[in-house]
Amino acid sequence: MTRRLWHFHGGLRLEGHKAMSMHEPITDAPLPQRVVLPLSQHIGAPAEPEVEVGQRVLKGQRIARATEYVSAPVHATTSGTVVAVGERTVPHPSGLPAPCIVIEADGKDEWIERQPVRDYESLDPSALRNVIREAGIVGLGGAGFPSFIKLNPGPDKVVDLLILNGAECEPYITCDAMLMQEHPRRIIDGLLVMRHALQAKHCIIAIEDNKKVAHTVLVNALQEHEAEFIEVVQIPTIYPTGGEKQLIKILTGREVPSHGLPIDIGMVVHNVATAAAVNDAIHEGTPLIERIVTVTGEAVDRPRNLNVRIGTPFSTLLKSAEWREDDTDEVLMGGPMMGFAVPDLDVPVVKTTNCLLARPRNQPHRQPAMPCIRCGQCATVCPALLLPQQLYWYAHARNFDRVQDYHLFDCIECGCCAYVCPSHIPLVQFYRFAKTEIWAQERQKEKADRARRRHEWHLERLERKKREEEERRRRKKEMLRKSRAAGDRGKQAEIEAALARVKAKKAAQQAPRNTDNLTEAQKQAIAAVEARRQRLQQGDDGES
Ligand code: SF4
Ligand code: SF4
Repeated sequence: MTRRLWHFHGGLRLEGHKAMSMHEPITDAPLPQRVVLPLSQHIGAPAEPEVEVGQRVLKGQRIARATEYVSAPVHATTSGTVVAVGERTVPHPSGLPAPCIVIEADGKDEWIERQPVRDYESLDPSALRNVIREAGIVGLGGAGFPSFIKLNPGPDKVVDLLILNGAECEPYITCDAMLMQEHPRRIIDGLLVMRHALQAKHCIIAIEDNKKVAHTVLVNALQEHEAEFIEVVQIPTIYPTGGEKQLIKILTGREVPSHGLPIDIGMVVHNVATAAAVNDAIHEGTPLIERIVTVTGEAVDRPRNLNVRIGTPFSTLLKSAEWREDDTDEVLMGGPMMGFAVPDLDVPVVKTTNCLLARPRNQPHRQPAMPCIRCGQCATVCPALLLPQQLYWYAHARNFDRVQDYHLFDCIECGCCAYVCPSHIPLVQFYRFAKTEIWAQERQKEKADRARRRHEWHLERLERKKREEEERRRRKKEMLRKSRAAGDRGKQAEIEAALARVKAKKAAQQAPRNTDNLTEAQKQAIAAVEARRQRLQQGDDGES
C-alpha cells in the first residue's frame, strides 16, 4: 500500500547539480601526514584531552573524553604521535581557532583492539546507547547533536515512528545518496540497532524521488530482512524536505510544536549516515573516525565522493578532486543554501563536514544588498511559517526580545528567504547573528545567576553554622543548670570542664593582642591611664 503524503508550507524547487559528483564510486581519500582533531565537533561541551604531546596513539583510540551529558568523545583517526594539543583554525564561519589535538601519522594505520557487540538485542537499550556514545557518534546530517541522546526517548515516552532521513535535499551534496547506493546493509543494520535502543514501533527510510537508484537498492536490500516494520518511502524533491519538521509533516501530516521536539509527538529522526555509523560501532567496534564527503562545484574538474579520515585538511580533498585554485571564488563547507565560506583551506574535515563546494569566480550570487522593498516573497517560501522580513528588521536593530517574539528559534536557516529576496539581503546571516548574540547573553546571565546563587549559599551556610553554635552553647548551659540543681557534682564537673575547654580553645584561636608582652614601664603607663579614666567616670578629673 502506498503511504499517503502531505505538503509543508513554502519551500523551493531548486536545480540539483547532483549528477556531477555521482559518476564515480566512493573512493578512499589519501591518508594525511597530519590529522587535526578539534575537541568540539558536536553540539555541547567540548571533549577533554586524555593524551599528552609525545604520546603514541593507535587508530580508534579515544584521545578526548566527553565532559558532560551533551558532549561526545574524540578518537585518533590514524596511528601516530601526538605532536600538539592547542588551538588551530577550525571550519567555522567565524574563522576563529579552537582547541585541537594534532597527530603526526606514522603511516602504519594500526588499529586499537576493537570490541564489537556480539548480540545487541540481548543488551539493555541504555547499555547500547552507552556503546554509541563511547563511539563518538553525532548526527552526520550536519547538526552534530550527540546521537545517543536522540536514542534516549525518556522514561515515559513511546516512540511510534523512527525516521531515517535520506532526503539530502540541498543541491550539489550527494554523500548520503552514494552511501545508500553502495552501503544499504550498513544503513538497515544500523536502523535495526536504533530501533532496539528506542523500542520504536515502526520505521521509515525517506528518500527524495530524484534518487531512484538509492531507493531501488534499499528496497532490494530490505527484502533480505524479515522487517515488515520498515518502509522505504519516496518523497517529493522540494527543498528543504530534509528538515526534521518538514520531513515529519510530509510523511505523517503532523506538526512538531514550536520550541518542541519530534519526540513530543512520538517520533525520532536520524540521518542515514548516522545509522551506518551506529552499525559500524555495534557490529565492528569502530568509533566514528571517518565519513563520506562530497567534493564538488564548478571549480573542480573531478567532482566525487571521498571516504575521508576526520582531521584531513580540506586542501587535500580539493586536490583529489582536481581543484582549479586560480578559478575559485570561495569554498563552502556544506551546500549553497546552508553552507558557509571557509576562510582557510587547511582547516580539517570534522564529523559534520558533508560537502566541500568550490565555487568559480563571477558567479551571479555575489550581488550587493539593497533596502527591503516589503514584497513579502520571503514569507511565501518560508517552510517554518515565519515572517522573515520582521525577523530581519528586529535582528538588524538588535532587538533580541522582539526577534524572539517572531519565533527566531524556529528558523531552520534553510536560506529559502534569502534565495528569493529581490534585494539580495543576506537574511540568514542576520538570523545567525541574532541567535549567537542571544545565546551569548543567556550564557552570561546563567554565569551571573550561578555566582549569585553561590554567594547566597555561602551566606546561608555561615548563618546556619552560627545558629548551630548558639544552640550547642544553650544546650550545654541548660545541662549545667540542671545538674547544679540536681547536685550532680560529677556531671557538673564534666560540663564545666567541657565549657572550660571550649573557652580555652576559643582564647587560643584569638589573635595575639597588642597589649601582650609589654615592658614594666609600658604596663605602669597603661595602669596610670586606666586609673585616670576611672576617676573621670566617677566625676573626679584630679585637676580641680
Ligand atoms: S524578500 Fe527581501 S525585499 Fe522582499 S520583504 Fe523579504 S526581505 Fe524584504
Ligand atoms: S531561513 Fe529561516 S526565515 Fe528564512 S525561509 Fe528558512 S526558516 Fe524561514
